Amino acid sequence: MKPSQSQERSKRGAEQGGGTQTGCLVLVATPIGNLGDITARALEGLKSADLIACEDSRVTSKLLQHAGIEKPLLPYHDHNAEMMRPKILARIAAGERVALVSDAGTPLISDPGYKLVQAAVEAGLPVTMLPGPSAPIMALALSGLPSDRFLFAGFLPSKSKARRDAIAEAARAPVTLIFFETAPRLIDSLQDLQAVLGDRRAAVARELTKLFEEVRRHRLSALIAHYEEAGPPKGEIVIVVGPPEEEGVSADDVDTLLRRALQSMSVKDAAATVAAATGTPKRTVYARALEIAGEKGK
Ligand code: SAM
Repeated sequence: MKPSQSQERSKRGAEQGGGTQTGCLVLVATPIGNLGDITARALEGLKSADLIACEDSRVTSKLLQHAGIEKPLLPYHDHNAEMMRPKILARIAAGERVALVSDAGTPLISDPGYKLVQAAVEAGLPVTMLPGPSAPIMALALSGLPSDRFLFAGFLPSKSKARRDAIAEAARAPVTLIFFETAPRLIDSLQDLQAVLGDRRAAVARELTKLFEEVRRHRLSALIAHYEEAGPPKGEIVIVVGPPEEEGVSADDVDTLLRRALQSMSVKDAAATVAAATGTPKRTVYARALEIAGEKGK
């Protein structure tokens, strides 16, 4: 079968080391704390770019200064993306190499860029990537939790009701879950995670690649107890929560989770959430949820 035009372009990109061809959008990952983590290819990609689209030019200027690179910067963030996107695409179409970076880590991962990539692909423009650090992947790798299947759920909402709903939705996948969180909300989020998922194994990964890097691995209850005593930690945080454990979920555990879930959810939603969280068959949990709801109604 004859390769399509975009397959040909991607092949050409790979042969040229990705990101060195003209007329191309190049996604460039940058360090998440330790400047030494910039890759040789990322430096090359930034040096050979005609223009660097970045979230915050002050942050990217520091990185470029450290690397001894001088390039024109174009702010591309949530507030100006609609306006900037056509301009960036026009420059790529005219043969320029545009690098896209975020403030830290991999662009598009809870950072701007997805719509730019989508628009470039739709316009038939080549897109390549110079991969590198990303906090969720590093946190997963260090968590000691199963890494064969995982769901990255981004930032948790700030309000408890919305947060519990987001956790319940993520928990439909019986896999390791990864969330971004801020230090002041850590304890509340750990409490909501325990309320919805039960006392799963988890890890709080903080200040990755930085001086005070720390990964605390415990059950959710022990993590909550630790931070309640020590106070919320400083810095940037990723929470990783293990999948439901097949053994050790007793009928009492299911009852406890159901009683909590029924405080804010319908019988159907509570049963679905607890079934997903514990790996217990849906029909069994639904029957028990009806019983508990009936007891409450008496
Ligand atoms: N695109 C980035 C990446 O690939 O890592 C993520 C950007 S997101 C806007 C920022 C969030 O990532 C932070 O609030 C924190 O939850 C997490 N994060 C970023 N750097 C981190 C670090 N060094 N240690 C722990 N978490 C980090």
